[in-house]
Amino acid sequence: MNLSLITPVYNEEKNLPLLFEAVYKTMREINQSWEIILVDDGSRDNSLVVLDEYAQADAQHVRVISLRRNFGQTSAISAGIDYAQGETIVLFDADLQNDPADIPLLLAKLNEGYDLVSGWRKDRKDNALVRNFPSHIANWLISRVTGVHLHDYGCTLKAYRRDALAGFRLYGEMHRFIPVFAHSVGARIAELPVRHHARKFGKANYGLERTLKVILDLFTVKFLLSFSSKPIYLFGGAGAVLMLIGFVDLAYLFIRRFWNIPAASSPLLSIGIMLAIMGFQSILLGLIAELLARTYHESQRKPTYTIRKTVNLSREPRE
Ligand code: UDP
Ligand code: MG
Repeated sequence: MNLSLITPVYNEEKNLPLLFEAVYKTMREINQSWEIILVDDGSRDNSLVVLDEYAQADAQHVRVISLRRNFGQTSAISAGIDYAQGETIVLFDADLQNDPADIPLLLAKLNEGYDLVSGWRKDRKDNALVRNFPSHIANWLISRVTGVHLHDYGCTLKAYRRDALAGFRLYGEMHRFIPVFAHSVGARIAELPVRHHARKFGKANYGLERTLKVILDLFTVKFLLSFSSKPIYLFGGAGAVLMLIGFVDLAYLFIRRFWNIPAASSPLLSIGIMLAIMGFQSILLGLIAELLARTYHESQRKPTYTIRKTVNLSREPRE
């Protein structure tokens, strides 16, 4: 299998026939073996019935995964990725806001030697105030914090080489951070402007609250990428700084006693003690996090590195 298309579906019964039409049209132009995996995310309309019909009619290409309830777009995408057979994986939305006609362009770019090609909705057709504007800010922030520079992380339409998706799981709203994780395991990433259409049928499932979730996810991602194998650097570093400030503060109170200024009456006393204790605790927390990091890597035999290729080495790593 060369190519797996994956699309999450939640209440898209009216969009699905148009989606299939567009996908078949594009796939006829591409000379590759392909499949499309549609993940029904607990739809409450007739989406699943429609999907079943298409799957019956074309068992060679159409695969359907039906989740037991609504888990959200990211989980639906994860399920699709877990079952995909293709060497190349393309994700896009089922509501036709992404245009399947852009898939060949992404694939061509991927073949230039990239591991991930991300769509960029340059001319985005969503609500300007509650979606586009907050999303601009979120994109800018993600780009600054992670050092992976894209204009549009949130665009679902992206093409991936299989290995670029290996080794991490997606939580929360995290499918938009796949490029960031992929970058951390050494993937080469490109961005390509793609078409974007307004929704014809159905309604958008997300609003302003999504941007908040994305920003919270960003904290997790940054922490995982920068410190998950060395948490003591963060906790210990913060703890050391707090303790130092605490000790300087206490030393100052101590020295003042030579001029008979009582320490007990100053708020600096409790502040100093508090900072020293908090700093010490943060260092201890760092040690616990170090234990967790070891459990995480060693229980799953997850190395702390990723390999692109080896030469003259057919053996498995020594345990
Ligand atoms: N979706 C899903 N589960 C959900 C919400 C949405 O699988 O709980 C799918 C939806 O069918 C669509 C894609 O995720 O294919 C994007 O959803 P939506 O269009 O609502 O988001 P927006 O384009 O407004 O960001
Ligand atoms: Mg949409």
